[in-house]
Parts: sequence; structure tokens; C-alpha cells
Amino acid sequence: MSDVRNVIIIGSGPAGYTAALYTARASLKPLVFEGAVTAGGALMNTTEVENFPGFQDGIMGPDLMDNMRGQAERFGAELIPDDVVAVDLTGEIKTVTDTAGTVHRAKAVIVTTGSQHRKLGLPNEDALSGRGVSWCATCDGFFFKEHDIAVIGGGDTAIEEATFLSRFAKSVTIVHRRDSLRASKAMQDRAFADPKIKFAWDSEVAEIHGEQKLTGLTLRNTKTGETSALPVTGLFIAVGHDPRTELFKDQLDLDAEGYLKVDAPSTRTSLTGVFGAGDVVDHTYRQAITAAGTGCSAALDAERFLAALA
Ligand code: FAD
Repeated sequence: MSDVRNVIIIGSGPAGYTAALYTARASLKPLVFEGAVTAGGALMNTTEVENFPGFQDGIMGPDLMDNMRGQAERFGAELIPDDVVAVDLTGEIKTVTDTAGTVHRAKAVIVTTGSQHRKLGLPNEDALSGRGVSWCATCDGFFFKEHDIAVIGGGDTAIEEATFLSRFAKSVTIVHRRDSLRASKAMQDRAFADPKIKFAWDSEVAEIHGEQKLTGLTLRNTKTGETSALPVTGLFIAVGHDPRTELFKDQLDLDAEGYLKVDAPSTRTSLTGVFGAGDVVDHTYRQAITAAGTGCSAALDAERFLAALA
């Protein structure tokens, strides 16, 4: 049986590495499970990040994450590029099991497993990510000044993204599978009144075209099956996110959409000694800086919790 650690952190995006940095600097010797394939988190899949403060000329996503990783390691965080496959968070001593079946024990656990944006599941979608294909208008809208853009989806997020993008874009076409939107009436009214926003109703994306950069889409009518070309150089996919909470669903309280519930503004979850931060908690902001911010909060909450045990 392994020693009982102070704190185990599950996840290695901006939230996980920031929690690691803070708990390491507090001499808590955190153990961080970074994930087997996706160590570094969502920003490993993007190109330039221009909105993380401190980088005047922007920074490539993977470089930003390497810097965060190195900074946490410098202060003694122990990083393991492996997945956690099981947890027991209910007792005073929490257990976390890795893929080799080794059980790790800790007094506190910080969950920063992020969320996964839903994909269309089309060839080229991943290859053109950061090259015209995006899942985040706040992050990437600025790169699309005077572009023709398609936004896929019909809910609040899609309409909000389209309205935001119309500030930069030459045109925005909302592509929706049905003939009416799910978004709130106020959002719809704003989109309908926007002269730059057009609609492709009863339509889905059949193909994404481009080699180095996105050059256009083929749309398929969901009622007639007819196809048509949509020449766009920006594609924003807004068909939802799935928080990575599968491991915790029988132990921690989740909301109706599966996000980890915390006692905001703290990062305390429904179990003592377990804290949540980053996109796994966050419906609303989903930014690297907000994830890093709540990662910091979770580390400070864990630190205070451990100090009270002593
Ligand atoms: P994530 O970064 O998603 O990290 C979650 C981590 O948990 C991963 O390391 C994963 O390996 C790990 N994990 C999950 N399950 C397990 C498990 N069972 N065991 C071990 N580890 C596990 N935001 C910006 O502010 N600016 C941008 O320009 C920007 N661009 C983006 C571009 C793209 C393509 C995407 C997808 C997102 C972008 N974002 C951007 C959003 C930003 O990346 C996220 O808000 C941020 O990464 C969330 O951080 P996080 O730490 O909560 O989760």
C-alpha cells in the first residue's frame, strides 16, 4: 500500500497544473495524474493562444502547457502521464487507481478533468482544428476578421457564438439540423435582427474541405438529402460539451448536464476533502485563464482543508 499523500490532482490542463503549482509551492508534494493520451489538456490541440495574460505576442497552446507543466515540476509536483481509472473519494483517506491497478492514497483530491467538446465526427475535423475549425468563438473569433463563417448548432451557445462572431466576420451562416432554433427567444431575436447572420435550415455538415486551411463545407439537407456547397473559411462547432465526470458520477453531486457541483465561490464538492476546478465545473466561461483561476482556488481550498486536519 502506498503512503498517504496530502493531495492528488486528476487532470493536467490549466486548472490541474495551476493547482499543482500552488500545492507544490505550499510544500504539499502533489501527485498529478496528467492523463495518458491528453496530458496538457485541451490547449494541446490548438495553435496560437492570444488571450492568456502575460504573453504579449501570444503563445502556441502546447508551449503554454509545457511552461505550466515545467513551472509545477520546478516546485516539486510529481507528474504521472497516466489515466485514473477508479476512485473512492468517500472516506477520510481517498483512493485513486491508475491503469496498472496501483492504488494511490491521499487526504485531499482535486478534480480537474475538463470537458470534451462534442464533435461532428467528420474526416478533416481534427486535422483542420486551429486551421479554420474551432470550438470557441471567444478564443478564436479575432482571427476571423472579414471571413465568411459557419456556426453549427441551434442552442444558446451556437446563437451566442454567431452573434459574437458577426462583429468580426463578413458573414455568419448558422447551420441547423431543424427548421427552428432551441435558443432562448431573446437570443433568437438578436440573431434574426443581425444583417450579417444567415441561416441554413434543415441542414447538416456532410464534408469539411481543405488541406492546410479550411476552404469550405458541403451541406446536406436533412429532409431532402440534397447537397450544396458553403464556401467558408471559418467553422465554429457549437453542438455541446460533455464534462468528464464519468468516474465520479456515483460519488460526487453532478448537475443535470453532468458538471461537477461545487459550493461556489469555493471549489468544495459534495464530499469533504474533494475539490473541483476548471471546465469540469464550468458551464459558462470555459477559458484557460478561468480554469487556471479556479485551479488556484482549489489548491488554496485544499491547503486550508489540510491545515485544519493537522
Ligand atoms: P482541460 O484543459 O480539458 O484538461 C483536462 C485534463 O484532464 C486533461 O489533461 C486530461 O488528460 C485530464 N483527464 C481527464 N480525465 C482524466 C483521467 N481519468 N485521468 C487522468 N487525467 C484525466 N481557451 C482560452 O482561454 N484561449 C484560447 O485560445 C483557447 N483555445 C482553445 C482551442 C481549442 C481547440 C479548445 C478545445 C479549447 C480552447 N480554449 C481556449 C479553452 C481552454 O482550452 C479550456 O477552457 C481549458 O483548457 C480548460 O482547462 P481545464 O484544466 O479545466 O481542462
